[in-house]
Amino acid sequence: MNKNYIIPNEWSIIEEGFDAENVEASESLFSIGNGAMGQRANFEEDYSGKTFQGSYIGGIYYPDKTRVGWWKNGYPEYFAKVLNAPNWIGIHIQINATTFDLNVCKISNFKRELNMKEGWLGRSFNATLPTGEEIEVQAKRFISVKYNEVGAIEYAIKAINFSGEITFSPYIDAGIENEDANYDEFFWETLKIVEGTHQGCILAKTLKTEFHVATAMEIDFAVNGNQVLPTHITTIEEKELTYTYKVKVAKGDTATIYKYASYVSSLNYEKADLIDASFKNVSEAKNIGFKQLFQDQKESWATIWETADIIIEGDIKAQQGIRFNIFQLNQTYMGTDARLNIGPKGFTGEKYGGSTYWDTEAYCIPFYMATKDASVAKNLLLYRYNQLDKAIENAAKLGFKNGAALYPMVTMNGEECHNEWEITFEEIHRNGAMVYGIYNYVNFTQDFEYVVSNGLEVMIAIARFWHQRANWSEAKQQYVILGVTGPNEYENNINNNFYTNYLAKWCIEYTIDCLNKVKHNYPNDFDRILKKTNLSIEETYKWMKVSDAMYFPFSEEHNVYLQQDGFLDKEIIPVSELPKSERPINQKWSWDRILRSCYIKQADVLQGMFFFEDKFDKEVVERHFDFYEPLTVHESSLSPCVHSILAASIDRMPKAYEQYLRTARLDLDDYNHEVHEGCHITSMAGTWMSVVQGFGGMRVWENGVLVFNPQIPAEWKSYSFTINFRGNVLKVYKSQTDCKFRNESEKELKLIVNNKEILIPANQLITV
Ligand code: BGC
Repeated sequence: MNKNYIIPNEWSIIEEGFDAENVEASESLFSIGNGAMGQRANFEEDYSGKTFQGSYIGGIYYPDKTRVGWWKNGYPEYFAKVLNAPNWIGIHIQINATTFDLNVCKISNFKRELNMKEGWLGRSFNATLPTGEEIEVQAKRFISVKYNEVGAIEYAIKAINFSGEITFSPYIDAGIENEDANYDEFFWETLKIVEGTHQGCILAKTLKTEFHVATAMEIDFAVNGNQVLPTHITTIEEKELTYTYKVKVAKGDTATIYKYASYVSSLNYEKADLIDASFKNVSEAKNIGFKQLFQDQKESWATIWETADIIIEGDIKAQQGIRFNIFQLNQTYMGTDARLNIGPKGFTGEKYGGSTYWDTEAYCIPFYMATKDASVAKNLLLYRYNQLDKAIENAAKLGFKNGAALYPMVTMNGEECHNEWEITFEEIHRNGAMVYGIYNYVNFTQDFEYVVSNGLEVMIAIARFWHQRANWSEAKQQYVILGVTGPNEYENNINNNFYTNYLAKWCIEYTIDCLNKVKHNYPNDFDRILKKTNLSIEETYKWMKVSDAMYFPFSEEHNVYLQQDGFLDKEIIPVSELPKSERPINQKWSWDRILRSCYIKQADVLQGMFFFEDKFDKEVVERHFDFYEPLTVHESSLSPCVHSILAASIDRMPKAYEQYLRTARLDLDDYNHEVHEGCHITSMAGTWMSVVQGFGGMRVWENGVLVFNPQIPAEWKSYSFTINFRGNVLKVYKSQTDCKFRNESEKELKLIVNNKEILIPANQLITV
């Protein structure tokens, strides 16, 4: 795979020159979406080379039958996966009688652009067909943020050296497959194909889940900028609807097709209304017109960037990298629908099934919370609240009682989808992340009402889980948690993972703390919650026995907490001594060799110190960083950002910057040779944190105070970012010499900067 082919640019992802080897990688990198739907950057016209077709609708999934060799009780039967949805972008094109296919053409001036400032995807090139006709193509498409069920394409062909006929056959194809179907099954059934005037629609339903989706298109044309509407021939096949238009062109003419499309689904409409709704959407889109829709798109993205942008001066690749991360996060999740969440690959691929992981609570919430309205992060919390009953069922299947909840490792609808025993049953630390997400949200927003209305029920169920999952060790005279997998998945079935034990203790303590606050400040709600959860004060005393006497493995010799019992029995050889040829170890080594080794996939003890930094002195963090980082192979994309942030907090800026580089351009430079499968969306939120929390040193203390300790990598001239802090917009600027804060709100803001309290009056800029 050809790496590093993306042209550095501040606001765009650009590819110049056509290389068939890059097509699948570019299909991932140039993906577009609007939070409700998204798609890979597949070509509109036919392409006979290697391609990975993908178009996805948030919340539309299929429970594919699980494939495992040896069944274990408690495994889920199904793995819910995001579905490749009907293709609405396709346009077969013929020049005179020859099919236009880039794979067989001579191509020049090829340029592909993903314009992140304005939210569109474009392609331009000249192509000479095997029959000698040369055309110049300018194609542009976007998925509207303002009208979130609508996408639009403008596709212009100029006849360079011929006069004749161009045939455009726009189509909708519901005969699509998923790359990762376990049994090569089709997941869609076509129900109805409806023809209208220059409009068409396919109604299809997903098998098993029975989601109904109407996919509609409406077509318009212009020749040399003047609207024309040639008649068309309709072809209806079993799963495909095609309209064929023939347009006469003289040499030098440009024929442009406009394709307006819409997905509407039974998530949002009555099934009987879908066809009408989809037709209404495409008619309206056509009436608004491509130009105006495009203008609206630019405005929507301008609004998003107002509170999300990070500006880096002096390093254009870093600038491009950070904007790419922010752009993709916004394309994946806009936060308006509490039924949706953030799949690790977003709408850019199928790996990880588009499902929800602990990534959301541990990595993504801070980004959405600080760049958008508080309701967005709240919707992410509500997603889990709405799945609490399923989490309780899930725990019950594993033998837990009394309303204890275990949230799934991987889910679409609240049911566990993961089926490797060491993760499904043992990677239980994810339960703690659910509570950490609530804690983080409450500190940032000071919206304690959420705890009262929803959060506490989740916390009680999770505290119950930890209480039951821990057991008293006679030998240690403390509580232990046995048989777990920590965040470092290169260790399985271990005892007393520091991170897991720490989270368990903390979850119980935080829940008790919140219960006390609710008892004193919201007595009616307190009674309601106790009743609803069937909780007694006596039960909470039992939880506290566990949290008060939790065991943590510790090495006196190294003065560090151990990742798990027996960690020091391993041969401790730093990663720097591993030959390059043996890495990544997950591709080069057998699993048992990985398990016996000391190598750490991603932050584990350090993940805990990152979450609860305020509970550990700087020297303690330093000591643990120095012990664990040299043993860490960072083979999860979630790893470098945590290390970058911790390194910055212990004043190791070169290390922080080194780790930052591994996360910021992970996909753009395809570090792991896998970008063709899709982009690493959830770790992009980690990149954002590396700048804002890492270099900017932003924290929100438990008392709600906003804190900064800005530092800057030697390689940059300056950086600045924006925070939406409880509805107040604050801009932070840091250069090699200056540090400035602009309060763009109407209220005075109190901050702690470099350990000193400062007050910034409304609408004022101050230099620190
Ligand atoms: C990581 C998990 C993560 C998952 C999805 C895995 O490789 O180890 O921590 O939740 O990827 O991003």
